[in-house]
Amino acid sequence: MRKNIVAGNWKMNKTLPEGLALATELDKMLSNYQPKCEVIIAPPFIHLASITATIDTKKIGVSAQNCADKESGAYTGEVSAAMVKSTGANYVILGHSERRTYYGETPVLLKEKVNLALKNELTPIFCIGEVLAERESGIYFDVVKSQIEGSLFHLSAEDFSKIILAYEPVWAIGTGKTATPQQAQEMHAFIRQIITEKYGKSIAENTSILYGGSCNPGNAKELFANEDVDGGLIGGASLKAADFKAIIDAF
Ligand code: PEP
Repeated sequence: MRKNIVAGNWKMNKTLPEGLALATELDKMLSNYQPKCEVIIAPPFIHLASITATIDTKKIGVSAQNCADKESGAYTGEVSAAMVKSTGANYVILGHSERRTYYGETPVLLKEKVNLALKNELTPIFCIGEVLAERESGIYFDVVKSQIEGSLFHLSAEDFSKIILAYEPVWAIGTGKTATPQQAQEMHAFIRQIITEKYGKSIAENTSILYGGSCNPGNAKELFANEDVDGGLIGGASLKAADFKAIIDAF
C-alpha cells in the first residue's frame, strides 16, 4: 500500500542555528507521538549534515531541495547526489517549479538528476504542475503528462516505483490560492491513470502522489481526504513547527 507523506520544503529560509532550532522543535513534538504519515523535511543543503546528526531520522526523513545533474568534478557551486547522500539525507526534491522557472531546469536536465539521485540511493520527490495560463487554457493535463514522460518514463518499473510525485499547480505555490480538493483529486487520479498505462496498476497504486500549493492547517484535511491525494509538499507552513505538526495531524 502506498504511503501517506507530509514533506516540508524550507526553500531558502533559515540560517543554520534557526534551521537546527526548527528541526529540533519538530523532533521534540514528534518524540512521544506516532504520526499517521511519514514526515520529511527539506532544509537548505548546508543544514543537512547538522540536522541529520541532531534529530531522529527514523521519525523525520531528511531531504535536499535539489542536486546536481553531474556526478562530480569542476562544477563550481554545485552539490552532487553522492554529497547529499553522505550527509545522511535520504530524499531529494527535484523539478520544483522554482527551479524550472528561475534556473531553467528542463525535463531533459531533470532526467539526469533523477538518474543520479536513484544511483546514489536518494528517493526523488519529483514535482510537476502547470502555470496559471496553462490551467486557464485547459492544457494542464497535457503539461503534467509531458513533464512526467520527459523526466521519468525512461525508468525501469523497479526504479519508477522508488519515486514520490508531488503535484504542485504553480498558480497555487506561495499564493494563498489553493487548488480545490476536486481539482487536486482530478489531477492526482489522472496522474495515477497515466502511471497505470505505462507501468501497470500495482505500481500506480503504490505510488505516493502529494499535493503542494498553499496547503495549510486549515485546508490539509479536506485535501488529504481525497482518494488519490497521499499527503502534501508544504512550503510556507513548514517553517513553523506548530503549523507543520497541524498538517501532519490532518491524517
Ligand atoms: C512548495 O514550494 O513546494 C509549496 C508548496 O509552497 P507553499 O506551500 O508555500 O505554497
